[in-house]
Amino acid sequence: MRTLVVDHPLVTHKLTALRDTATDTATFRSLTAELVTLLAYEATREIRVQPVSVTTPVGLASGVKLARPVPLVVPVLRAGIGMLDGMIQLLPMADVGFVGLRRDEESLVASTYADRLPADLTDRDTFVLDPMLATGGTLATVISMLAARGAASVTAICLLAAPEGLRRVEKAFADHGADPARGTPSVRVVTAAVDERLNDRGYIVPGLGDAGDRLFGQI
Ligand code: URA
Repeated sequence: MRTLVVDHPLVTHKLTALRDTATDTATFRSLTAELVTLLAYEATREIRVQPVSVTTPVGLASGVKLARPVPLVVPVLRAGIGMLDGMIQLLPMADVGFVGLRRDEESLVASTYADRLPADLTDRDTFVLDPMLATGGTLATVISMLAARGAASVTAICLLAAPEGLRRVEKAFADHGADPARGTPSVRVVTAAVDERLNDRGYIVPGLGDAGDRLFGQI
């Protein structure tokens, strides 16, 4: 598994505004979309394409188009929904699946309450949208679900990651993608920053608080 921290001044600028408690919901939503589009640009760098040629007004040009089957984008409910617009901006042709996981606030263990994924993901690039990679439990579960359906690659796009969560996902998928003959998908995490740590309630420090609440309000 590989981790990419997108070190770009515009990414850091938008992330800093997201962290700020003074940022209101409307601004938080639009900044999230913009930040996801920037992260998605890097996250799609290895997306599968196939060669095509097109006729320009002046001649023939060789180029590429996205390979079939089209990529699958998987927002993790609820907060991942806030990242979907920014992703679709860049990949308007992608299919979208949904996974819902609920984290027990005491044990911090995640359980699945929604699973709307295609049964067969053979040859498909998949992109998981989960804003906060905290303990890594949710992401590890979703990656396993996609791997079990035969996904060719899994790229998680996270606004922020904690070192504890990254270590957990790295441990679980360390050798994924290393040997194509084994049929395991390559696994990558793309994030705007890796923060200091988790606190005892499983929140990323300094983080940005509860991403779902900041996007959609407290329930
Ligand atoms: N989920 C969040 O929304 N925020 C955190 O800091 C950790 C998990």
